[in-house]
Amino acid sequence: MLLASVLLLLPLLITLNLKHEGENVVAAQDNLQSYVSETQLQDGLLWRVIGGRIPPEAARQQVVASRERAAAHLAKSVSLGLSAEAGADIATLSQSYDHAVDAEQRLLAQGLTQQALSLHLVGQLTATLNSLAVDLSAQAGKAQRWGDLGVLATVLLSLMAVTVVQGRRRRIEVRQQTRQQSEARYRTLIDRSSDLVLVLDPDGKLSFASPSAERLLVGEDEANGRAREGSAADTSLADATLADLLAVVDPADRARLSVALQTATAENRAIGEFRLNSTQHSSTFELALQDLSGDPSVNGVVLTGHDVTDRLALHQEMEHRALHDELTGLPNRALLFDRCEQALLGAERTGTTVGVLLLDLERFKEVNDTFGHHYGDELLRQIGPRLAGRLREVDTVSRLGGDEFAILLQDVKSVDVAVEVAATLLAALEAPFHVEGVDLDVEGSIGVVVSGEHGQNVISLIQHADIAMYVAKTQHLGVFAYDPSIDEHSASKLALVGDLRRGLECDELVLYYQPQVSASTGALVGAEALARWQHPLKGLVMPDDFIPVAERTGLINPLTRRVLDIALAQARTWIDQGRPLPIAVNLSVRNLHDENFVDLIAQLLDDYDVPARLLELEVTESAIMIDPERARQTMEKLSALGIRLSLDDFGAGYTSLSQLKDLPITDLKIDKSFVMSMAHDAKDSLIVQSLISLGHNLGLTMVAEGVESAELLAALAGLGCDVAQGHHISEPIPAADFDTWSMTGR
Ligand code: C2E
Ligand code: CA
Ligand code: CA
Repeated sequence: MLLASVLLLLPLLITLNLKHEGENVVAAQDNLQSYVSETQLQDGLLWRVIGGRIPPEAARQQVVASRERAAAHLAKSVSLGLSAEAGADIATLSQSYDHAVDAEQRLLAQGLTQQALSLHLVGQLTATLNSLAVDLSAQAGKAQRWGDLGVLATVLLSLMAVTVVQGRRRRIEVRQQTRQQSEARYRTLIDRSSDLVLVLDPDGKLSFASPSAERLLVGEDEANGRAREGSAADTSLADATLADLLAVVDPADRARLSVALQTATAENRAIGEFRLNSTQHSSTFELALQDLSGDPSVNGVVLTGHDVTDRLALHQEMEHRALHDELTGLPNRALLFDRCEQALLGAERTGTTVGVLLLDLERFKEVNDTFGHHYGDELLRQIGPRLAGRLREVDTVSRLGGDEFAILLQDVKSVDVAVEVAATLLAALEAPFHVEGVDLDVEGSIGVVVSGEHGQNVISLIQHADIAMYVAKTQHLGVFAYDPSIDEHSASKLALVGDLRRGLECDELVLYYQPQVSASTGALVGAEALARWQHPLKGLVMPDDFIPVAERTGLINPLTRRVLDIALAQARTWIDQGRPLPIAVNLSVRNLHDENFVDLIAQLLDDYDVPARLLELEVTESAIMIDPERARQTMEKLSALGIRLSLDDFGAGYTSLSQLKDLPITDLKIDKSFVMSMAHDAKDSLIVQSLISLGHNLGLTMVAEGVESAELLAALAGLGCDVAQGHHISEPIPAADFDTWSMTGR
């Protein structure tokens, strides 16, 4: 628009300027013409008097008036460009003309008409005037050409402007069409959608309400009735006001909405979630406000709302799941940590103390083993309510996993009080739990910590509670409050337990494989899988640093399970690659005592579709000696599956070969301490020699560990040893390296 205006105005100004001169001349010409007209009028008046149509007196008056007008025109003409001489000439002529007219009039008044008719002055005057007018025309014409040029430019530019304007107009039309289409679309969407759209005019009236808003305001039935009657959405609520809207807003949210409405701006701004209650149900809407009072097509505050009830419910459900233990419904570790953090912040403000109790159940495993997991699960479900019965509302009972619970005590007076509460909780567990007609007994050990004294943050508090609980358990104390003087070393060892548990959950356990070769030919005959812990901070942790810790806690079971998973997956890969290779996995005493272990092995072999003969399980003497009968039973079952069983580190313990006779062992691994000292100790060499021949007599495959040199390998081959394993052949290496090693022939 601005462009068009400029385009039009600019030439117009130029033209006006150019034309100014020409126009003046034209105006002078016009005035001259008017002057001529006046003289002709005077002449005409005379003729009328001669014709007898008007009396001489009346003509006289009119002639005087005409002369005045003529004089004015002449003067104007001179001022506008008529030359001064021309003006003087005309004035002289005019005077003679006037005299002639006067004389004529006198003659006429005297009735001397014939004499009057002989006076022909007017013709002379007219001729002079006409020649002057031609002169002026020429002058005007010259000036006008410039003006015309300007006019032409104006016309051209106007045309351009018109084109521009027309283009704009077409675009506006297209835009209007699109707007109409989208308005129709919006209308349909608004009509159909469950979103609310309301317009509140400055008088507090609802000037528009979408159908869903209407349903909310007047109720489903009435709104539907109106819809049937065909009333438009924006007219059916003619009388509704802000009060009607506020009436459906939950009382608790009303003030918030009122404030938001009063402070609405032209920006579309979300104002939060509001509960709106219709006659039928209550829903939560996410509302947004926009003050469009300045827009005449809206003239009001627009309130849009989106039903988020389902989304909120889903969100809450997911949040609940993320923060609660699935089995018991109790808060989980994450929620406990969160509440703990909040409690610590609160305690810091109020100068109070927070207590954390860590409870580990005793004999829970027995319940699981004896009655099955179903009973164990049900028992765990009953623990929470039992404990909560002895606690205050503000305290939190959470399940950390397995049979481990944590209790957060808000505002405890002292360590002694926390210990007292812990004792109460243990007492609460004394009464048996009834599960499907069976009375189950459990006991527990509780570690106690309080904020400030035992730690400043959640992590340190829980870690210390873990140590205290471990002491309570191992010392059979029931309840034990953390003592900072507990040996730092044992404390860090215990901290390792938690770390290892996390590491297992995070898949940080990896396997390295050490080749086993035929002592005589050097051919690859198998691989021993050896665990490594790929720690995010410590790097690669060796098994001696975490296997003993895992064995002392329940962690060895999940650890072995993980090792078996990885090893069998590797066995499967090697089978798929067309070079099946036996894999040996190390077991711990706990595995042999686990009744479900055999089933687990069978299941895993099945899952990975690995033949039993490709799996070898290594057991140590000490593992067998703790409960030989139980170990024997498990080993019999494993052997029945077709699995090879080897006795690891043989010679280091006190097992006599005669004790081995009854065990279904297939391989004997001579401890590396004998093998390694063979080279320089004749006695050890002799022991190894006799072990090999004794083992062979029992039909066992003899394996030598710790083969660190070619000489050792040769010596062992000479002694008839079957299999060799050691650094001379290869250190334990990752699977990928193992593949390279085996294919390149080391
Ligand atoms: P092990 O079963 O006697 O495993 C053999 C150990 O000797 C391995 O140590 C291996 O690296 C090392 N070794 C092999 N050849 C030589 C050699 O020529 N010279 C010397 N000096 N050492 C050699 P690693 O891998 O550190 O394992 C240590 C122990 O940790 C194992 O002893 C085993 O008892 C235990 N372990 C490893 N992985 C597992 C597992 O998955 N489960 C269980 N329960 N125990 C495991
Ligand atoms: Ca071993
Ligand atoms: Ca060994």
